Amino acid sequence: MIAYYHPDSARHKPLHRIAGGELRPTFETVARIELLQQGLQELNIPLAMPDVDAARLGHLISAQHDAGYLGFLEQGFATWQAMPGTGPELRTSVHTSRHMTRLPEDFLGRAGYYQADSSSVLVEGTWEAARASAMAALAAAEAALAGRGPAYALCRPPGHHAYSDQAGGFCYLNNAALAANAAAAQGARVAVLDVDVHHGNGTQQIFYSRPDVLTVSLHGDPAWLYPYHAGYADETGTGAGAGANLNLPLPLHSGFAAYAEAMQLALARIRAHGTEVLVIALGLDAYAGDPFACMGLRIEDFARLGAACRLPLPTIVVQEGGYPSPDLGRLLAAFLGGLAG
Ligand SMILES: [Zn+2]
Repeated sequence: MIAYYHPDSARHKPLHRIAGGELRPTFETVARIELLQQGLQELNIPLAMPDVDAARLGHLISAQHDAGYLGFLEQGFATWQAMPGTGPELRTSVHTSRHMTRLPEDFLGRAGYYQADSSSVLVEGTWEAARASAMAALAAAEAALAGRGPAYALCRPPGHHAYSDQAGGFCYLNNAALAANAAAAQGARVAVLDVDVHHGNGTQQIFYSRPDVLTVSLHGDPAWLYPYHAGYADETGTGAGAGANLNLPLPLHSGFAAYAEAMQLALARIRAHGTEVLVIALGLDAYAGDPFACMGLRIEDFARLGAACRLPLPTIVVQEGGYPSPDLGRLLAAFLGGLAG
């Protein structure tokens, strides 16, 4: 197995998230990188710099994300900084909603249009880090598609909550979708299997009307968990993509038995899709000891989950959530060890 990571991923240093009605330290910190790297070291997986063609990366990003949104990600923080009385994080307080969806002229209004929630702040270096994360995903996709075995992308910031035109849930560019699109561009039938504890709402939106990319997400029931407003079992795709989205919400604090059952359904659908390339959106936050503490998986369960994902297909593993705990690296090692067999 080979792994990719670009050091610019560490340039994004958000400070806060809103919890309990106040600003509290964010969980999506640079410390995650070192913990995840320890997991790779445990398995002696070499870490390579993503060496991808900048034009190809730019083309894939532009094909997947809205031009105005990309401009906001790239220039938004500089605009914010140039305004008087602004702090170190670009966070707005008015977002689009089901009753108001217009794109205004004012910068703060535009921020509320492009940020789905308050957890996707822009800071100095956000764009560079998001792009570095996308580079790792593309490099892993190219390695797996070239038949070099399963490939892992240490993507940070994560990506699965990023829509085509909105940041959300610590995510800016959708890395798993980018890997899937890179494979689909070669004519492959692709499945994205998202095992993060939170629903992969951005990935679902990006592929919702596409028949060639199946999206499957196992996650805590959104009736009780972020992202709350999507991720239900009756969301199955639309138009040409009808039937190509499968949500498997699980009761909070479920253990491996519930995951094993859901995985059987997920794998049956992945086989029925005629999948030729598998993208795993790997969140490690279903761990009972994760700071979010909303699911009941143990370390050894991640090895079983990894083993269940071992299919005779080019496989790209893209890092999503999973937050600092002393065990974060061990969780990654368990999953990748199980996947490698
Ligand atoms: Zn998550």
